Amino acid sequence: MNRYCLSCGKRLRKEETLCPSCHFDNAEEKIKELDIHEYKRLCYEKTTKDRVLRNRSYAFYVIGTVLLILATVFFVLSFRYNLRHRVFTPDSVEFVFCVLFFAGSLFFLIDASVLLLPSLFRERYFRSLLKKRK
Ligand SMILES: [Zn+2]
Repeated sequence: MNRYCLSCGKRLRKEETLCPSCHFDNAEEKIKELDIHEYKRLCYEKTTKDRVLRNRSYAFYVIGTVLLILATVFFVLSFRYNLRHRVFTPDSVEFVFCVLFFAGSLFFLIDASVLLLPSLFRERYFRSLLKKRK
């Protein structure tokens, strides 16, 4: 399981106890010495932050999906009828819209995943820390 700094939430490398970012000592003995209220406050602070990130990433998934649907609609519209034959017209305005919506959709979907995955792991880690000390 990944480990994170209790103070700033940055990911720690294996065996690393001193946070390279905020210099907080994450050694187990040090953390056990922390006041229980302070400990819980730090954990809750991180899980709340990750919940906000997660909700934002869900919103990004919705926007990305809507843009993907619009891109598909415009892709279909970029086919023109020419004497009963459907002809794909890449130089049409519809196709330009299709490409724009598709690029926007990719941007939102990738951004959502970049936000979501690390925040899921971090939130799980701090929830497990909360369970450890009750
Ligand atoms: Zn830190």
